[in-house]
Amino acid sequence: MGLVVQKYGGSSVADAEGIKRVAKRVVEAKKNGHQVVVVVSAMGDTTDELIDLAGEVSPITSGREFDMLLTAGERISMALLAMAIKSLGHEAQSFTGSQAGVITDSAHSKARIIDVTPGRIRTALEEGNIAIVAGFQGVSQDKKDITTLGRGGSDTTAVALAAALNAEVCEIYTDVDGVFTADPRVVQKARKLDWISFEDMLELASSGSKVLLHRCVEYARRYNIPIHVRSSFSGLPGTWVSNEPQGDQPMEQAIISGVAHDTSQAKITVVGVPDKPGEAAKIFRLLADAELNIDMVVQNVSAASTGLTDISFTLPKDDGRRAIESLEKAKGSIGFDTLRYDDQIAKISLVGAGMKTNPGVTATFFESLSGAGVNIELISTSEIRISVVTRKDDVNEAVQAVHTAFGLDSESDEAVVYGGTGR
Ligand code: ADP
Ligand code: ASP
Ligand code: MG
Repeated sequence: MGLVVQKYGGSSVADAEGIKRVAKRVVEAKKNGHQVVVVVSAMGDTTDELIDLAGEVSPITSGREFDMLLTAGERISMALLAMAIKSLGHEAQSFTGSQAGVITDSAHSKARIIDVTPGRIRTALEEGNIAIVAGFQGVSQDKKDITTLGRGGSDTTAVALAAALNAEVCEIYTDVDGVFTADPRVVQKARKLDWISFEDMLELASSGSKVLLHRCVEYARRYNIPIHVRSSFSGLPGTWVSNEPQGDQPMEQAIISGVAHDTSQAKITVVGVPDKPGEAAKIFRLLADAELNIDMVVQNVSAASTGLTDISFTLPKDDGRRAIESLEKAKGSIGFDTLRYDDQIAKISLVGAGMKTNPGVTATFFESLSGAGVNIELISTSEIRISVVTRKDDVNEAVQAVHTAFGLDSESDEAVVYGGTGR
C-alpha cells in the first residue's frame, strides 16, 4: 500500500460535523495501510467571508497582508482536523504550506509553485502520523512572505504534494460525486463521467467547471499523477482524470465530454478604433503590460464610410476596472471613441476531443442555442472546444439545451449536490 494524498474542499469541512466525518474517512485510509497526506481548504465560505471583512477595513484587495489574512482560513481547518483525528486515537500533525515546503514565486494572490520540499511531511509520515497540510498557500522563495495560489488553489497544493511525494493517487473530495457532463447545480440530468482525459478536463476547467482548477490539472498532467474526484459525503467511486483509462474505466472516449459555463467574465468593447494596421496591437500590448489576461476577442468589419471599427474582448470581472483605467489613459494614443463595459454576460462551452473528427458538432451547438431562443454575442473555438458568449440571464437555459441536444442527459439518477452554497 502506497502513499495517498486526499484533498477536502470547503464544503466537506464546513462545520464541526463535517470535520469529524472527514476525520473518519482519513483514518479509514490509514487503517487500510496507506500513508496519508491530507490537504484541506478553509471551512465553508470562510475565504469569501475574510475577503468581505477585508473590504470593510480597506480598499486593498491583494498583496502581502491580504494573503496573510486569507491563509488563516486553511489554518483553522488543518488544526481542527488534526485534533479530530487524534480524538479517534490516531496520530496526526498539521502543517502550513510554508512548513510543508510549498515554495512559490512572489506574485501575491496568484503565486505559482516553483518547488516542493516536503521534508517535514516525510518525517511526520515515517513517525506514523497522518500529515495534514493547509491548502492554497506557500512561501515566496525570495522574500519568504506568505503567498496564496489563487481561488480554488488547494487542488493545486494537493497535486503538487502528490507529485513531490510520489503518491499513487491524488483524491479530490468535494460536494458532488465526480466530474459530470455539466454542473449538477444547473443540469439535474447531468451524467457522472467514470473517466476523462487530462486534455478534456483542462478545457472544462479553463471554461469554468470549478470542480477542478485548471492549474491543478496542468500540474497533474505534467507529472502524470492520476486524480480521483469523488464525494466526501458518499462512498461512491468518482471520476478518474488521467492520460489513459485503466482497469474497468471506459476504453473509448465520448465524442463530447461536457458543457461548461462561466459567469465570472466581463466584456469590454472599444468603440470607434481606426481600422489600420497596429491598432489592435497597441490595445493588447497595453493590456498585457498591465498583466491582464484576455480570453475571447472579436473585431467587427469596419464601416467603409467611417474607417472605424469596434474591438470586443472578454476578461475576468475582477480585472475589469484596471482594464478600463489602462485603456482610458491611452485614449489619445490609440484614438478610439468610447469604451463599453458589460458584466452581464456568460460563456458557454462545449468540450470534447471527438469533435475534431465529427462533422456537425458546431451546427448542432448553434441550433440548440437558437432553439432555446438564446442570442450569441461572441464565438471562439479550439480543436476540442466551442465557446459562445450570451446574456447572463440565459445561461441555465442555454446549458440545459446544449446538454440535451448532444444526448448527454442521464436516464436514471439525478445528479446529487451534497453540500456547499455554490458561492
Ligand atoms: P470544493 O469546495 O470541494 O473545492 P468547489 O465548489 O470548488 O468544491 O467545486 C465543486 C463544485 O463544482 C460543485 O458543487 C459543482 O457545482 C461545480 N461544478 C461545475 N462544473 C462541474 C462539473 N462539470 N462536474 C461537477 N461539478 C461541477
Ligand atoms: N479556500 C480557498 C478558496 O476558497 C482555496 C480553496 O478552497 O481551494 O478559494
Ligand atoms: Mg474547489
